[in-house]
Amino acid sequence: MIIYQNASLTLFQSGLYQTNSILFHKSNTALLVDPNWLPNEVQFIRDYLTAHHADQSLYLLFTHSDYDHILGYGLFPEAKVIASQAFQENIRKSEILEEIRDFDQKHYLQRDYTLSYPEVDFCISTDGERLILDDFSLSFYQAPGHTADGLFTIIEGEGIFLAGDYLSDLEFPFVYYSSSDYLQTLDKIDLILQKHPIQLLIPGHGAIVKNDYNEILSRKNRDKAYLTELISSIQNGTDFSLADWLKRFPFPQGLKDEHKKNQQHIMMELGYQSGGND
Ligand SMILES: [Zn+2]
Repeated sequence: MIIYQNASLTLFQSGLYQTNSILFHKSNTALLVDPNWLPNEVQFIRDYLTAHHADQSLYLLFTHSDYDHILGYGLFPEAKVIASQAFQENIRKSEILEEIRDFDQKHYLQRDYTLSYPEVDFCISTDGERLILDDFSLSFYQAPGHTADGLFTIIEGEGIFLAGDYLSDLEFPFVYYSSSDYLQTLDKIDLILQKHPIQLLIPGHGAIVKNDYNEILSRKNRDKAYLTELISSIQNGTDFSLADWLKRFPFPQGLKDEHKKNQQHIMMELGYQSGGND
């Protein structure tokens, strides 16, 4: 479903987890980000591109390698792929594809295209790295923490910040990779806001933020506070105010499991035995 559109941007949102697929275009160039999720939703994006953007060179950007963000890859074979170096070097490629197959099996979903892990044409490996496409340029910042291979992308001159699975209004941090990297990635957001006049933040899930630095900073500070409180509760054996945190989000049920996973992950990082301590 298209939930937002202006002259250069079309935002598609899946019925599942409010996952965003982004299409930006200018002159002869189109950039598609994380096309997802259900087979008919990915097909809708494919058909939309064919109908409206067939003459443009297509670039496909993946914000990170979580299976829900890469599962549409096979429908865009003509695209040149942009992702982080860590995305390209991911050692879990076959497991990630297995996660897509598991999901499809479980929900009786059929895809009329071949599933494969994206082959990256433009590997991004440093902070501040730029990529000049035909009609616009991108700036990148490494964003590890949620996964090892996250990438922040700024569409230069447009003030668009593509944040992947950070800064969502629906979720506190999900730490699948590293809590200390996650905190450092959050700190980079200040630098990004100083260097690039951001008009539009688009997270991987949930609502976009238009012309509102305070909202971006408040999401960032919320996420820092969550991680800081969680780490300190584990280190000091103090209570974590989960009920209060859950109240801040519109869909708290699914967050309970994610919180447990965070707790176990951080206990492992800190060298504690995992288990209990709810
Ligand atoms: Zn993710």
